[in-house]
Amino acid sequence: MATKKFDYLIVGNSAGGIGCVEGIRRAGQKGSIAVVSDEDCHTYARPLITHLIEGDVEMKGMDFRPRNFYGSFGVEPFLGYRAEGLDLEKRSVRLRPTNGGTRHTLRFDRLLIATGGKPFIPPMAGLDLDGVTPMITLKQSLDVRGRLGRVRRAVVLGAGLIGTKTAEALAHRVESVSMVELADRILSPVTDPVSSAMATESFRNNGVEVLLNTTIEEVRGDARGRVKEVKLKDGSVLPCDLLVIAIGVRPRTELAEEGGVALVSMKLGGGIEVDVKMRTSAEGVYACGDCAHAHDFVTGGMRLLPLWPNAYIGGRIAGLNMAGAEHSHRWATNMNSVDFFGFPMVSAGFTLKPEKKGYEEIVRHEGGQYAKIVLKDDVIQGLIMAGHVDRAGIYLGLMREKVKTTSFKEQLLTDEFAVVHLPAEVKERIKQPITEIE
Ligand SMILES: Cc1cc2nc3c(=O)[nH]c(=O)nc-3n(C[C@H](O)[C@H](O)[C@H](O)COP(=O)(O)OP(=O)(O)OC[C@H]3O[C@@H](n4cnc5c(N)ncnc54)[C@H](O)[C@@H]3O)c2cc1C
Repeated sequence: MATKKFDYLIVGNSAGGIGCVEGIRRAGQKGSIAVVSDEDCHTYARPLITHLIEGDVEMKGMDFRPRNFYGSFGVEPFLGYRAEGLDLEKRSVRLRPTNGGTRHTLRFDRLLIATGGKPFIPPMAGLDLDGVTPMITLKQSLDVRGRLGRVRRAVVLGAGLIGTKTAEALAHRVESVSMVELADRILSPVTDPVSSAMATESFRNNGVEVLLNTTIEEVRGDARGRVKEVKLKDGSVLPCDLLVIAIGVRPRTELAEEGGVALVSMKLGGGIEVDVKMRTSAEGVYACGDCAHAHDFVTGGMRLLPLWPNAYIGGRIAGLNMAGAEHSHRWATNMNSVDFFGFPMVSAGFTLKPEKKGYEEIVRHEGGQYAKIVLKDDVIQGLIMAGHVDRAGIYLGLMREKVKTTSFKEQLLTDEFAVVHLPAEVKERIKQPITEIE
């Protein structure tokens, strides 16, 4: 067993971990950095894994940073190692190789926990059958891609971001796809009923069966242990040779728990408790991304925001602070941009008007285009754009800068509305970069 000491230890080699490396170096720190991941591969863009199945992205397009990243940023990568046994007194973790190899103990001055999320797998018999998989890692998407020749019918359980992206990818590659969702609409946390219905239509028009208000009760296999069919709540049966479980991601907090780092209560979704500087309850230990809470600039509270930009910016802010700079992560909210079969949709902040004093919504719905803005005291608190997303950037800028729209509110959703029509002072504000991460 080899022991090594690093100034900065980062567990997680994805958006949060890479953001942290870049933050540390941005702050001018030359200290030693180790990055650990139990995935045995170069850093990749997780949101693209379903595109690998679809075939519109190839392996070389998956890299999140160039292959020389670790060398050029002076990072020692430990890829294919699980970090365990966080000991805050000894300031160390143990690394267990996931594919054989030498065990290590790494000691650190400062630690970032960017361990991401793990799929929620319901307690149900049959999920160990061949052909049943979550869709979280590159390995899982490559495995599905490798099976495509043998798959005629696929079922996707869950119609959130991961489920819908998976169903779209599979629709391009297999004969039939059914998406099963317990809620009464798809993408429910990031849509309202109108925009969700429009997205559903786009799936149905492209041959995907969308089954709402139902779930899978039983997964059945054949004599060779391969998935054969699923039985739904209403008794109907869907034959399938691939079942993707995509009903949510939970924060991956085992390492933090082992070290006694404080977690948020399960009522609030669990996850590692952090402040806006990404500091945890433990001295010198930071956390970011899907495993931790983050400050939502719309609600003003801390919450889980399992999104790529939140993880990257959170990691970068953590890195800057670990290196001695003073920065806060105040730029996150529930922000999504998707495109299903050429139907684009952007949403951010509140997608439903809170039933509280001061809130109002303005809506424009014409033909295949829908736009809705939620305001509180004339400040944008949320938006949905479906079928066209041209001005989403302006609205997001206004929302981020908390600009009072009183003088131009009536024009917000008109065809003429553009940056040139904004008061000069507002134009300048929404053009500002997010200085905290620069
Ligand atoms: C299919 C799919 C589509 C998505 N699409 C979008 C999208 O369109 N837009 C968007 O904003 N977000 C999207 N997301 C979410 C986005 O990918 C995540 O929010 C983001 O990857 C979180 O980054 P992270 O750095 O926090 O953690 P992760 O990306 O989850 O990475 C954490 C890494 O740490 C490793 N790890 C965990 N524990 C240990 C340990 N103890 N030891 C060693 N290694 C460990 C994990 O194996 C993993 O490699 C999508 C996710 C998926 C799965």
